Amino acid sequence: MATTHKVLHGIGVSAGTASGPVAAVHPAPGVDQDEPATTDAVAAGERVRAAMKSVADSLTQKAATAPDTSKPILEATAQLAGDRGLAKAVDKLLVTGVGITRAVADAVADYAQMLSALGGYMAERVTDLYDVRDRLICELRGVSAPGIPSLSTPTIIVAHDLAPAETATLSPDMVLGILTAAGGPTSHTAILAAQLGIPAVVQVRGIDTIEDGAIVALDGGVGEVILAPSPADIELLAERSRRRAAALAGSSGEGATRDGHRVALLANIGTADDAAKAATFDLEGSGLFRTEFLFLDRDTAPTLEEQTATYTSVFESFGKRRVVVRTLDAGADKPLSFADLGPEENPALGVRGLRLSMAREDLLDTQLAALAAAYEATGADVRVMAPMVATVEEAEWFAAKVRAVGLPVVGVMIEIPGAALRAEHMLAVVDFASIGTNDLSQYTMAADRMQGGLAELLSPWQPALLQLVKAACDGGRATGKHVGVCGEAGGDPVLALVLTGLGVSSLSMAPSKVNVVRAALRLHDFATCQQMAAYAVDARTAKDARVAVTAIVHPTLLDLL
Ligand code: PEP
Ligand code: MG
Repeated sequence: MATTHKVLHGIGVSAGTASGPVAAVHPAPGVDQDEPATTDAVAAGERVRAAMKSVADSLTQKAATAPDTSKPILEATAQLAGDRGLAKAVDKLLVTGVGITRAVADAVADYAQMLSALGGYMAERVTDLYDVRDRLICELRGVSAPGIPSLSTPTIIVAHDLAPAETATLSPDMVLGILTAAGGPTSHTAILAAQLGIPAVVQVRGIDTIEDGAIVALDGGVGEVILAPSPADIELLAERSRRRAAALAGSSGEGATRDGHRVALLANIGTADDAAKAATFDLEGSGLFRTEFLFLDRDTAPTLEEQTATYTSVFESFGKRRVVVRTLDAGADKPLSFADLGPEENPALGVRGLRLSMAREDLLDTQLAALAAAYEATGADVRVMAPMVATVEEAEWFAAKVRAVGLPVVGVMIEIPGAALRAEHMLAVVDFASIGTNDLSQYTMAADRMQGGLAELLSPWQPALLQLVKAACDGGRATGKHVGVCGEAGGDPVLALVLTGLGVSSLSMAPSKVNVVRAALRLHDFATCQQMAAYAVDARTAKDARVAVTAIVHPTLLDLL
């Protein structure tokens, strides 16, 4: 049946417009319902290992030619495909006589349950694990791998959800856009799409039933999807795109409101490669270097020498521009095999972030020594902050350690409501604070940030969250210290105005978002930002907050969204 004209709405996660034919990502074939019971468990185990090796090899091969941003994700998925624990779990089922693809599916299901229970980052790895399962079953059933079909013309990819390993292999030359029925704004898929510059909309209800070849238009800025668009619809979207490009072309220089109130615009980075890339953008440094990416997915901690080399490279990339380094934010949702403190009932509320550094002081000491050495070597503008700080005592403990190694500027992240409420006291013992709105949202609203279905509760427009941001900024004003934002909210151009009005002095985001945020600031004066902040905090609901603020946004900015 031909697709009829219809407009759908989802969450825009990567700006830009596109129109063209869709190609559906076909689901995996699943367990072979007719397969025989296993009679020779040893031989079946060998077949599973051979299939695992083949899947791991093909993912490693893809990683070798993938862009730097996607490489680590593909490598991590390849590592999962070769996981010896998984092979052993399959063996256990094979000896009971279970069929070979059923054994793989059941062993993966157990493993996935364990990862889900850990929550956060590990729960997010479940998508990668299911991707490995599907590839393994295809290998065992002798059918071609599921997922992205090979494309011969520029196409819009449509899927229920996309595995990060799939997203990472997409070429912006052939993929015009991405539409998914599931997924959330902080999922790997959304982050990768933005990094690749492919317009994307997630949470588009019903999109996964669309037929291959149907024509669709999308706007990844506002999250609009038009099925069977008319030529006029397509021209309207293209015109929107042209207007945005023209308006953004003139966006350069330091971040400031129309009347000159300064707000530093900074990049979020995770690796030395990210730093090299971000440094080529017109921005003022990095406001969040997530150093844990150097520690995850390995059996031993990176050595002092390795860390020193990485930090030196990052500092050199930014030259005289600031680099705000967040010390290891691991534990619970981002567990380290070499710092396992045992199972936890509720890991999101467990020994994580700075708490893990307090339990494993040796890890923090090595990291601080490496940061001090890199600072000595480069003389860079280095500022070091701790993740997940809850109390003033923790802030004091951390500040003393940072200062003891000769690092000049120390701060704390505010991502726990308790820290936001007590920001004045926190800031009295450190030099600055940076608000992590991603975690602050999840702890304020008691909603897991990785659950796409809880997006409304996790909306940074929730007045409760904004009230806590205000409390943190009030603490900054009382102490004369800088308070920035480095969570995803900082990259939303309208929220950036609200945050500025609340008093934040820096916004850190994906580098690709800086231009539009800079343009948004330039269109408004500080008094208007303050008015927006007051409207948003006083609003009854997240929706009311958004509506009240949008009503006084400069019309040119609405065109840029
Ligand atoms: C945050 O929580 O907002 C933040 C910036 O840290 P992360 O996203 O790495 O937890
Ligand atoms: Mg955080």
